Amino acid sequence: MIKKNKSGYIVAIDGPAGAGKSTVSRLLALNLQGRLLDTGAMYRSVAYFGVKENISTEIGLAKIARSINFDYDVKNQSLIVNGEEMGQRLRTQQVSGLASKISAYKGVRQILTIRQRELAQSWARSCPVIVEGRDIGTVVFPDVDYKFYVTADPTVRAERRHQQLKKQGTKGVSLQSILKANIERDKQDSGRKHAPLKCANDAIVVDTSKMSINQVVHFMTEHILGRISLIGE
Ligand code: C5P
Repeated sequence: MIKKNKSGYIVAIDGPAGAGKSTVSRLLALNLQGRLLDTGAMYRSVAYFGVKENISTEIGLAKIARSINFDYDVKNQSLIVNGEEMGQRLRTQQVSGLASKISAYKGVRQILTIRQRELAQSWARSCPVIVEGRDIGTVVFPDVDYKFYVTADPTVRAERRHQQLKKQGTKGVSLQSILKANIERDKQDSGRKHAPLKCANDAIVVDTSKMSINQVVHFMTEHILGRISLIGE
């Protein structure tokens, strides 16, 4: 069990796609001068190499999950995969869809869960570690001191993604299609047999539908640093 100690501690952040989890986790890691472990990027990496090497079986993908080398780029707060910054290669529609699919494979989950624990625990020897994903507070680190479940209304999540794509200059993706894809991914993530997306009983639920990113990050930072407490605590 990892508890807050002199040097480092672990913060678990879970929630559905598009709730603002990644942005919030990144800013929180900056505020706390810690590291960010983006576990979704680990599932995406397995999917990416599965496509690249034309491997789609559970055994084959589990082998990939075991063999990938994961490292951390402090400056960019990003995961280095086999020595490379993966950037948008992990964000294509194909990789996103496949990552969600293969994350239902028990063999892949078991290996990535072990690797997530190893990475976060070794980093937490020297700094706080924000671990972001779907099953962090429930399965990967059920005993940590700080757990948040970041969520938002599905329509708000789709609108945010739509705006983001527009800003990036991506055309031809309708709000409806994003909403549909989000609902499909939520269904896959929540409905799977192994480590489904769900809120841990002891997680603090943060609904970002009507909150700005800054408000969310401020709330979490203050809570972790013990400067605010919740009613009933
Ligand atoms: O968070 P992100 O969208 O990058 O995650 C990619 C996929 O990986 C998700 O659709 C989800 O199915 C899966 N995932 C997971 N468990 C985690 C993190 C991500 O199943 N801890």
